[in-house]
Amino acid sequence: MIPAARYGERLAAARELVAERGLAALLVGVGADLRYLTGYEAMPLERLTMLVLPATGPLSLVVPRLELAPARACPAAAAGLVELLAWEETDDPVALVGRLVRASTGSRAPAGAGEAIRVAVSDRLWASFLLRLQEVLPEARFGLGSAVLRELRIVKDADEIALLRAAAHAADRVVAAIARGRLIGRSEADVSREVRERLLAEGHERAEFAIVASGPNSASPHHEASSRVIGAGEPIVLDIGGTLGGYGSDITRTLWVTGEEPVHPPYREYLALFAVLRAAQAEATHAVRPGVPAERIDAVAREIIATAGHGRHFIHRTGHGIGLEAHEEPYLVAGNGEPLREGMAFSIEPGIYLEGRFGARIEDIVVCAADGPDVLNEAPRDLLVVSGE
Ligand code: ZN
Ligand code: ZN
Ligand code: ZN
Repeated sequence: MIPAARYGERLAAARELVAERGLAALLVGVGADLRYLTGYEAMPLERLTMLVLPATGPLSLVVPRLELAPARACPAAAAGLVELLAWEETDDPVALVGRLVRASTGSRAPAGAGEAIRVAVSDRLWASFLLRLQEVLPEARFGLGSAVLRELRIVKDADEIALLRAAAHAADRVVAAIARGRLIGRSEADVSREVRERLLAEGHERAEFAIVASGPNSASPHHEASSRVIGAGEPIVLDIGGTLGGYGSDITRTLWVTGEEPVHPPYREYLALFAVLRAAQAEATHAVRPGVPAERIDAVAREIIATAGHGRHFIHRTGHGIGLEAHEEPYLVAGNGEPLREGMAFSIEPGIYLEGRFGARIEDIVVCAADGPDVLNEAPRDLLVVSGE
């Protein structure tokens, strides 16, 4: 749980950055940014919901009349940190937002050409709203809200890390349950359904993805789950996740299904490939500490995989940030020289994929702590050799 007081701190910090960057206001539509600042998980609707965060003056949450009850219940509104402004079906909410922005800058009408103001909008705001905002605020130059919010959201506080850890442990238990259960003779889709049910049973409010990639499908990193029936003597890449308390889980483990009488142990070639991957994932994790550039973590994993001759079979970046969104900053990818900071949370998930044959991936969620990596997942990372019967 995020304590209500935290929303006051976040709103104050965001407002400070709005003023510092010379912005007239930050406008936040429905999505992770709004949830981060207010705790309000609004429904994405064609009706406008928008937090108006000006450099000076009151903070307003503009909501459709019929959404007033849930909006009023959100932590920031309940604590009186934002003023709720409900609009009726026949009102023009975008014009209302325009008036709020102008009122905060002290101007009553569109300013002259030389007096342009700067307004930031949340990155995921729908184009339909932004285009209307541009009409009602012709004097404004619009930019991305991440200019303000990335600074705040990229570093997780202790309560956010606690939620990420709870989500990770729940996902760990789902992996263990799937590895214990019957797999042979079932379709990927059937196992995927079970993963989703178990994620919910383990406390997730949402099961977002449940990749079950068996046999040759394991060579396709984002294979979802198909009608393919799982057999003995093949690998399964299991990449699953959802949200718990709003925060994401995302774990990948690779299984080998042996069957019974006869037993089909992993091919020697597969074990060799997996050993390389295991070392790459471990060393990349080991390299995490404050000050290390994000791209360095990717390079550590890539060097080990390339040295083993699989460089061109590692076809994606090593990791992505995670929080209120499943993929967010920082990205662990060549070209991102941003130094890791204490409190950043991200996946470390190298993979090796031999197209048409088989593949493997290992993924943990890792927090950059003061003294090194804090690995949130606890499920064993070795190849999970299971009977599947
Ligand atoms: Zn992905
Ligand atoms: Zn994943
Ligand atoms: Zn991931």
